[in-house]
Amino acid sequence: RAKADGRNTYAIYDSAIEQKAKDRIELISRLHLAHENNEFEMYFQPRYRLSDECMLGAEALMRWRPNKETVIKPEKFIDILEETALIIPVTWKMFESSCVQFKKLLDQGNHLSLSFNISARQLEHPDFISKLKLILTKTAYPPQNLELELTEQTLIQNVENSRFILNKLSSMGISIAIDDFGTGYSSLSYLKNFPVDVLKIDQSFIHDIVDDRGDLELVKTMIAMGKNLNIRTVAEGVENESQLKLIQNEDCDEVQGYYFNKPMNFETFCKIIEANRK
Ligand code: C2E
Ligand code: MG
Ligand code: MG
Ligand code: MG
Repeated sequence: RAKADGRNTYAIYDSAIEQKAKDRIELISRLHLAHENNEFEMYFQPRYRLSDECMLGAEALMRWRPNKETVIKPEKFIDILEETALIIPVTWKMFESSCVQFKKLLDQGNHLSLSFNISARQLEHPDFISKLKLILTKTAYPPQNLELELTEQTLIQNVENSRFILNKLSSMGISIAIDDFGTGYSSLSYLKNFPVDVLKIDQSFIHDIVDDRGDLELVKTMIAMGKNLNIRTVAEGVENESQLKLIQNEDCDEVQGYYFNKPMNFETFCKIIEANRK
């Protein structure tokens, strides 16, 4: 009996794994189609200066729109895009369209910076810089109005390559932000070896900042460190006024979060900018 049970368990386990593998293959082919059919779209989440709540720019965040009604967030597909390297062509397509969109806003006299997330897979690709330059030239987008967001994890995967690429980006006038700062288990020494302009304090620290003394102390330390190293700090994931007040007390430079806006499509983003101008 025990033996029979064991076999059964094994059989169920086996078919569960098989199903998972099938789902994965299905999703991969679906994502290839999504790329061909232009089903990916960038949403934008504004970022504000804390002192006067002036909008300084926005972060581009990818969404999958398989049809008019459905909006799928990156947690459902970004890992697979990265594993299959589809992230590279998809990102370039999205990057080019975002540059075109932001160029229009700049030409209308808005002073805005576009922040774009770059994954490790992309940074280590030998054509990264040349492709980036090509799109900036093609869209006539000024590199001074571009910021690339990289995680600590991405940067430490290949320190020599990261240093080379970041120095190149910096010499082109592009800003560098460290995303999800504080979650990376990495050495802080890269902050003085890499040309970093911005630290985006991870939202996990902001989330409990009102109740958790430890998180508050960590955020204070990150802000102070930014000040000392002449690196701007951004609080990510600010959702309410009490979190905002604490961040303001600590002299953080910039803020991004649902308290101000959720990520939105380009059309809505344009309306917000219009309203701000009035
Ligand atoms: P991230 O770059 O750290 O982006 C911030 C995430 O926090 C976004 O989630 C944003 O919608 C969310 N967020 C912003 N404010 C708040 C808030 O007040 N409360 C809460 N709970 N969440 C907030 P999203 O858009 O789902 O993106 C998740 C992650 O997917 C991003 O984290 C980034 O790592 C990745 N991602 C998104 N778009 C791209 C892309 O185009 N390329 C690459 N490589 N990764 C991307
Ligand atoms: Mg980001
Ligand atoms: Mg982040
Ligand atoms: Mg993240």
